[in-house]
This record gives sequence, structure tokens and C-alpha cells, in this order.
Amino acid sequence: MVKITGYKINDVRFPTSLTGDECDYSSAYVTLLTDSDLVGYGMTFTIGRGNDIVCIAIKEVANRLVGKDTEELFSNMGKTWDFMMADPQLRWIGPEKGVIHIASGAVNNALWDMYARSRKKPLWKLVVDFTPEEIVQSAAFRYISDAITKEEALAMLKEKEAGKKEREAKVRELGYPAYVTSAGWLGYTDEKVAHLTKEAVAQGFNHFKMKVGADQANDLRRAKIIRSIIDDPQYLPAGIAPRDPKSEALRGKNAGPTGSVLMIDANQVWDVKQAIDYVIGLKEIKPWFIEEPTAPDDILGHAAIRKGLQPHGIGVATGEHAHNRMVFKQLFQAEAIDVAQIDSCRLAGVSEVLSVLLMAAKFGVLVCPHAGGVGLCEYVIHLSLIDYIAVSGTMERNVLEFVDHLHEHFVTPCSINAQGRYNVPTNPDEGYRHVF
Ligand SMILES: [Mg+2]
Repeated sequence: MVKITGYKINDVRFPTSLTGDECDYSSAYVTLLTDSDLVGYGMTFTIGRGNDIVCIAIKEVANRLVGKDTEELFSNMGKTWDFMMADPQLRWIGPEKGVIHIASGAVNNALWDMYARSRKKPLWKLVVDFTPEEIVQSAAFRYISDAITKEEALAMLKEKEAGKKEREAKVRELGYPAYVTSAGWLGYTDEKVAHLTKEAVAQGFNHFKMKVGADQANDLRRAKIIRSIIDDPQYLPAGIAPRDPKSEALRGKNAGPTGSVLMIDANQVWDVKQAIDYVIGLKEIKPWFIEEPTAPDDILGHAAIRKGLQPHGIGVATGEHAHNRMVFKQLFQAEAIDVAQIDSCRLAGVSEVLSVLLMAAKFGVLVCPHAGGVGLCEYVIHLSLIDYIAVSGTMERNVLEFVDHLHEHFVTPCSINAQGRYNVPTNPDEGYRHVF
């Protein structure tokens, strides 16, 4: 019998504000210790100040697991998740939101890491090898049964069972589709935008995202620079043919002549009406979707924006600030979004992510995880693989965010192949691993 005996917490910060960013990308990092060699590494992400506050909250959550038998925790990860979240005193500073929730994410991620490495599998492989019953049992199901019942989830997963092996083999060979955000940050010079866009096209990417919202004329100018490059076949890497803009993978994405797709991200700047007007003003650059157009908690606001933009063929995406599964549930129920951008560290770990993946599959909403920051790319490839192989069964319409930043600090960094797709993690000791 292996017991959790304690934990170590590290406040890890990268001084990214010194090189032009406003943020200091940071990680509140926890190591769960046992009375054996087994350990579990987990983290949550912050953008600087307050990382120490998250570390204090992690201590409070991790305390609940000390003294517990690991196999008993692993045997029902949904029940374990409920237990972690049920501290009667901590609930007042949540429940299930804010600092206490992202701290719970770090601890739940660490526990899943420990579970995966105890079975000598990368996290995604541990979960896709589960039976449908085990997946349902591992998810955080409280408060969502009005959107999806356990029976419905089980039926969906059973339907996908037969194709799992084939999908796993396919994604191991091809990699998982990705997109880049790095080219289109606000504040870059036009020359830098053009240079980074050409570089991304040469790396095989065909979905590109830029930041908008500070100044419409400026947004249009930068977007036209990006479009002029991604729509021009001369920049495609040697041997790569243009993609068919009318193919199923690109349906509804406003792809240009080479099959390239442009997305725009406003980071919550507008009120609802303002968002609709502003984005209609960007219509000529043909974005697939507008990401985070308004306050992340405003579910009906997102629904109104989606309705306002639908006649113009522009979708709505959000999720990096959607702080729990109930927010996603309502976004789905209100038909407020086309794309769900789950965050591996804002949701409270893998168990809560599983419940959002199940709901998204039921409502037919694409899951394209958020992954800027530090450590998020390393996490989300596991989640997208679970979504493709075991839950939704599709990947060619999905794209997983990739930002080429700070990966060198990880023992098992994520990587991208020549077609601009994430490689599948295969190291049996990797777990859901995040060792800096
Ligand atoms: Mg964003």
C-alpha cells in the first residue's frame, strides 16, 4: 500500500515582462510525495503577481490528500475529485472558482500524473485505455446532469470504442493539428508580423491567430499583411499542396485559396454590442471566429454576439477564462460558442476537463484547447488526444494552440512535426509530467 505523505510547492516565475510582454509567465507547481518512489507533479499557470497566493491555496487543497492510499484514490478519480473539492471551510472562498479552483487544478493534475506514471503510461494513453465506464467514473459529474447524464456519456463513449485503436494509430502517425498565435501579437511591427507569419507557414501551420481590439484600422492593416502571406501559395513549404478550402476540415472556417484559416482574439475588451459592431468591421479579413469578445462569465452576452455575427459567417470561441464546467455547460446550452477553448489549469484538473469534453461532444462543439503561457502546451496535447481517440472521435476540424515559448524548461517538452502538428507523447515515464 502506497500512501501520500506530503507535498512540495514551488513558486516558479519567468521574467517575460523584461522582453516586451506585460506578463511574467509563472507556474504554481506542486509535487505530491508518497512513502514509496512514486511522486506526482502538477501545476497551474498564472501571469505573475499572485502566483504566491495560488501556492498558499495549493497547500490547503493538497492537505486533504495527505494520508490517503493512492490506489484507493485512483480507483475512482471522480469520487476523489468530489472529495478534493468538498472541504466545508474552503468552499466559502470558492466554490469552484478563483484562486481555490486553479489551485485544485494543480493538485488534481499532480494526482493524475502520479496515476499515469504508476501505470508507466503517458496520461493520454492511461485514459484512452480506460473502459467507457472508467472514463465516466473519472469525470467530475456534479451539477451537469441536466446537460448530460452518466448514461448518455456512457452510450456516447461505447459508440466510439470500436474505432479507438485505428484513431490512435492514425494520430501517432500524423500528429494532432495545431495553430500558431505567436505571429499576431499587438505591438509587433508590421515587419515582425510578416516575418513571423512567413516562418509559421514554412513550419507547416495553416491556422493562424492574431490579437485584435486596440484599434480597428491597425487590426485591418496587420490582418491584411497576414492574409497576403497565408493566402499566397508561393510561401507554402516545398512539397506541401494547398488545402481545399471547401473540404470538410475547413467547412465554415472562411479559409483562403491555400486553405489557410485566420482567427482573431480580443482578450475580453468589448461590451456586447461593441463586440458585434467591431467584428463586423473586420469582416473583409474573413476570420473563422472571434475569441473572448467580452467578459468571460457573460454567457448570454456570448450568445448575443454569436447571433449577431452569424449572418456574417463569423463564429465565437471562448474558454481560457471559463472557470468551471458549469460555465461551459451554460455556454453549450445557450448555443453561445462554436469552439470551446478549455484551459488545462483553470479547470480543476483532468477530471473536470473530462466532463467538459463529454458535454462538448454531446452538443457538437469543437474543443480547441487554450495553450499560451508556460506548460500549457505540454498539458493540452494529452487532453486533445483523449478527446480525439476516446470522446469526440474527430480531429481534422480541431486545432490545438501552439506557442513556441519556454518549452526548453521541461524535461519532456512538447514538439511539432514538419506538417505543423503536435507529436504524440510516447515516453512511458512521462505521465502528465511537468518537471522543470
Ligand atoms: Mg486567448
